[in-house]
Amino acid sequence: MTTRIEVTATRGPSAKPRVLLVEDEPSLSTLVGKLLDEAGYEHASISDHDEIAAAIIRWHPRCVILDSEPGSKGHERSWADAAAIRRAHPDLPVLMFTADPSSIKEARAGSSVRSKAAGYAGVLDKPFLVVEFLATLKHAVDTQTTRDGKGISAEAISVFPDIAGPNAQKWLAADFLSMAVHELRTPLTSIDGQTQLAQRSMAKDPSRAADALARIREQTNRMNRMIGDLLEHARVSVGALSLEVVTFDLGVATAITIGMHQHEDSARIALNLPQPVRIQGDPDRIAQIISNLLDNAIKYSPPESPIVVSLSIDGSHVEVRVSDRGVGIPDNERDRLFAPFFRTSRTREISGTGLGLHISRRIAEQHHGRLALDSSSGDGTVFVLRLPLAQPSRTVAAH
Ligand code: ADP
Repeated sequence: MTTRIEVTATRGPSAKPRVLLVEDEPSLSTLVGKLLDEAGYEHASISDHDEIAAAIIRWHPRCVILDSEPGSKGHERSWADAAAIRRAHPDLPVLMFTADPSSIKEARAGSSVRSKAAGYAGVLDKPFLVVEFLATLKHAVDTQTTRDGKGISAEAISVFPDIAGPNAQKWLAADFLSMAVHELRTPLTSIDGQTQLAQRSMAKDPSRAADALARIREQTNRMNRMIGDLLEHARVSVGALSLEVVTFDLGVATAITIGMHQHEDSARIALNLPQPVRIQGDPDRIAQIISNLLDNAIKYSPPESPIVVSLSIDGSHVEVRVSDRGVGIPDNERDRLFAPFFRTSRTREISGTGLGLHISRRIAEQHHGRLALDSSSGDGTVFVLRLPLAQPSRTVAAH
């Protein structure tokens, strides 16, 4: 894999100190990038933690800022990444960027095994104060310059967190609440930072302030969507989602749902419907699942590419397939696809909450059905929703 580094300034000798930013959230990457620019740093951003080592070798930063995410999304990974940087480049300061209070405390205390191995030069709290952020960074870069000058070599680190050992499960356990808080704090951090940017540039650069305000609106909307999805998730999880069960024609419901996603100028969704298909369930909830699959097919594929919805009967079940010609799902990420908040590495630039598939699967299960990934390649993705055909005696579980 080639390393994709987004660099702000032209290549070649530069007097500006270079900072490598490892951040997979585009809104935060943009915000921190602007602050670095403004403060006179040259910066490069990467989103993939696997690319850190190569980026350091190729780009020689004077400081690395490492975003730390909670739970299964990579929080523990950041400690190991920092330790790996420390071993390979003992003098290169690494800053941790996190919203997790226990990580902040642990990194600042620096007394645990992994915090010693990581040796963070500073911790940046999210949301952050711009002045504090810049002061922490300046301190880290200046300290590194001094250490470089004196040729101080760091001690070898022989104690290293055992990421494959018995603690691994504990570290990797997804804590839903901490992930939810993190997901909400991410737009909040952007909103807070962009507000500070707008305040600073209001008088001298109104267009920059206007741009910051537009981003604030974007992130506010995103937060709103997220809160809606979180509520829906909570209802689905505790079985508080009421179903109004009737017998209805799934083909008709699917056609109506497609109609709501079809733009008149570019009809790109085709429906293959061989015969009427009667099922029992809540038509709105089933439409919600199909709608989510269509939203995703539209979002994650090129604008004009075709999307096909096909209904077919398989014994006592009907299968609805939604196929697109989009970015596909990487092989090694498929098993996490339905986990709450999971988003694949190919879709980070596109807005989403990572909750829709999880909620949809739960709704399908409430209907004695199943939602699964049918197939995926670099050329597209097929999801399949399987539901039982209507039988006079069947009732849908109310949990
Ligand atoms: P959202 O789209 O809001 O992020 P979902 O739960 O609906 O949330 O989807 C979870 C993730 O699965 C998406 O963020 C995306 O990474 C991936 N995904 C879902 N559908 C597709 C698709 N049709 N093509 C490629 N990736 C997809």
